[in-house]
Amino acid sequence: MALDTILVDGHKQFVSHTYHNELTKYENLAKNGQPPHTLLITCSDSRIVPHDIFGAGPGDLFMVRNIAAQVSPFVAVSESTSSQAALEYGVTALKVRNIIVMGHTGCGGIAHVAAGNACPDFGTPSLVSTWMRPLDTWIKNHGDTLPSEPQARASALEITSIGVSVQNLGTFPFISEAIKRGDLNIHGTLYDIHTGLLHLVKETPSGDFILKDLSG
Ligand SMILES: [Zn+2]
Repeated sequence: MALDTILVDGHKQFVSHTYHNELTKYENLAKNGQPPHTLLITCSDSRIVPHDIFGAGPGDLFMVRNIAAQVSPFVAVSESTSSQAALEYGVTALKVRNIIVMGHTGCGGIAHVAAGNACPDFGTPSLVSTWMRPLDTWIKNHGDTLPSEPQARASALEITSIGVSVQNLGTFPFISEAIKRGDLNIHGTLYDIHTGLLHLVKETPSGDFILKDLSG
């Protein structure tokens, strides 16, 4: 079976326009390797277009994408996941100066957890439920203070999830060491699909997570 024409046509457009117009840049990247300034962890959601959101181009963003932009706590090498390997590569080999966790509004993975992992469309046992289990466990271990109304619960969990992933980044030895040296900054952000705006996620002294504007 041939490649879907929507993909073939899109690729032809890329080669004749985007690649052609930035030929020197692409040739330099091929010759000298990638110099990304930021490791971005974001959701697999097709509405999230990181290069547009950050005005970035080829070579700028080293990316990890998974359901709901999850980062689990550091585990032993024998249990390493693709996401964790990408963190090691980005921080130790590429020496990015920023790690950004970017969740978003209307996230299906978060809604799944907020609804108690109940979704008849998924398999049994659900791989999505398994993937989201660390966040589910975090909620249970920290006393469930999230709102009970479904939409409010999902919205609150979108913010909390980002804060938890940022906290978990700090459990990786090579990340905490880079932060101590002053070589690395970590931020949690929420992208609002309705407005196109990015908000910072900050932890309050009482351990809650709230939104702030980008200056903040
Ligand atoms: Zn999502």
